[in-house]
Amino acid sequence: MADLQDLAELRAEVRDRLREHAAHAPPATGAHEPMDYETGPELRSWIERLRAGRWLCLSWPTRFGGRGLDAFACMAVNEEFARAGVPRPALGMGETLLAPAILQHGTEEQQERLLPRILAGDDVYCQGFSEPEAGSDLARLRTRGVVDGDRVRITGEKIWQSGAHNANRVFLLCRTDPDAPRHRGISYVVLDMAAGGVRVEPIRMMTGDHGFNHLLFDDAVASLDDVIGGLNNGWKVAMTTLGAERAGHITSQYLGYERELTDLVRRLAQLDRLDASATERMVDVYAQVQLMRFTGRRVADEMAAGRSAQVLQAIDKINWSELHLEMGLLAAELLGVDGITRPAEDGYRLTPLQRVLLESPGRRIARGSNQIQRTIIAERVLGLPR
Ligand SMILES: Cc1cc2nc3c(=O)[nH]c(=O)nc-3n(C[C@H](O)[C@H](O)[C@H](O)COP(=O)(O)OP(=O)(O)OC[C@H]3O[C@@H](n4cnc5c(N)ncnc54)[C@H](O)[C@@H]3O)c2cc1C
Repeated sequence: MADLQDLAELRAEVRDRLREHAAHAPPATGAHEPMDYETGPELRSWIERLRAGRWLCLSWPTRFGGRGLDAFACMAVNEEFARAGVPRPALGMGETLLAPAILQHGTEEQQERLLPRILAGDDVYCQGFSEPEAGSDLARLRTRGVVDGDRVRITGEKIWQSGAHNANRVFLLCRTDPDAPRHRGISYVVLDMAAGGVRVEPIRMMTGDHGFNHLLFDDAVASLDDVIGGLNNGWKVAMTTLGAERAGHITSQYLGYERELTDLVRRLAQLDRLDASATERMVDVYAQVQLMRFTGRRVADEMAAGRSAQVLQAIDKINWSELHLEMGLLAAELLGVDGITRPAEDGYRLTPLQRVLLESPGRRIARGSNQIQRTIIAERVLGLPR
């Protein structure tokens, strides 16, 4: 773990850099990127700046363009960006979900070929794991991968792929040995979506946005060189991706919640609705955000010490997703009509706080549903029967 002196120096360096560059940044977004997120020109040019300064993919090894920072150092950087009110974007699922799997299970050749393209922004990935009959119980997946010489031919369907309409590649799981026990015989494959045999169908969400997709594969062809971790060994690789997904932005996610809460306070003050009762409820939510912040740090502590943080992560997952819904409901209630109507002059776009309300129910299902997390707590902490 980075020591305090190193962290203080890192923070000072970030503050220096941001003093120089922050004026060129778009404003920071809320806790979660909108599901229909598209990188506009302002954010693209900010990402270019961060890329040039090596402020992207911070946890990656230096030889792949990262800084090799641990969770605490990443948190320090993220907090400094948040303090300056500017975004520190991740390069999507390629950086956050696929790269950890490539770094842990990929060959040297795969690391050298695939990682720089993520960092350069040349490859934008989506995650092709869930299927209509295989969500929580992922090992039920049925998408087939048939090995044909040096290729894998993929046929089947995936559902709920966030951002697949903006992606050019997908990392997916397919069954390459149908006779093996269900957790074996699965391969983790990286596929070029433009290569043919892939159809992307939009799914609209209750926000009105097109955030999700349905992916249909009809004899889509990937190279055997793009199987990560070896044929039929994909379950282990998938666990690394799911571990990274659960860990998420554990140490810095609270920053987005603080930002949203500050927005709500500002809006209520403008409307002259920040009375004693509203203030009391905001303080309660603020305390929960701080709880989330320190649970995140405990998770990072456990992981840094090489201990399992699965139970703490389950608690954290329930906390952050339930809290976000609570915040969305609170904003709608306290803002009244203003909280639920859309300003016509803004093309009826949702306000960020309305987005919190309408997107947060889905977050209780994403990254392992809260029922599943409660089962983990019930069995592992409370010792209840299965
Ligand atoms: C916002 C969001 C983004 C997503 N992004 C992606 C993505 O990019 N790529 C991707 O592949 N997938 C993605 N998903 C899909 C997500 O992984 C699945 O929705 C999730 O795994 C649940 O699967 P399911 O929808 O099939 O529900 P099911 O597994 O059918 O579950 C239905 C209900 O039953 C409950 N349940 C199921 N099993 C149990 C059990 N054993 N004990 C108790 N309760 C249980 C669940 O909690 C849930 O409430 C996303 C989902 C959401 C909501």
